[in-house]
Amino acid sequence: MIKAIEYFIEILRGSVITARHFFVNMFFHILKVMGIKTKRKGAVTIQYPEEKKELASRHRSLHRLMKRENGKPRCVACMLCVTACPSECIYVEAAEDPDLEIQKYPAKFIIDLSRCCFCGFCVEACPEDAIRMDTDQIELAQYSREDLLYDLDKLIG
Ligand code: SF4
Ligand code: SF4
Repeated sequence: MIKAIEYFIEILRGSVITARHFFVNMFFHILKVMGIKTKRKGAVTIQYPEEKKELASRHRSLHRLMKRENGKPRCVACMLCVTACPSECIYVEAAEDPDLEIQKYPAKFIIDLSRCCFCGFCVEACPEDAIRMDTDQIELAQYSREDLLYDLDKLIG
């Protein structure tokens, strides 16, 4: 019996805390809707997607492949990103470049975003600064897995 009473007291206590947060947040939300600024931050959830939060400067968003001055990819198909990727979602097919300074270029470069965990290891591993994750694009949902395969055309910035 005592256990049951303690149980209901805890439920009541939890309900009071939840209700308190609800009404306090609602109060600040109404103030915000009325255009009244308060010192309190974080009382209101961002009204996404109409309202968007600025991304942090070190965020990781959709990948892009960097270009050389002549428009060709900076990537030299060294496979370091492929090796570093924990999700095994990068596929690179190397081809020989007639320029001996470059030696190789990616004939195919595909990232399967349906498997990518946005860890950024590929960016860290690249010795040529050929791949970056700074496009600010984070809305990447698609209706099919095929649309999440990003090839050279889609990735080249
Ligand atoms: S961000 Fe991580 S998981 Fe995604 S492609 Fe790069 S290394 Fe792979
Ligand atoms: S993107 Fe960078 S790490 Fe990946 S294959 Fe190209 S040069 Fe190598």
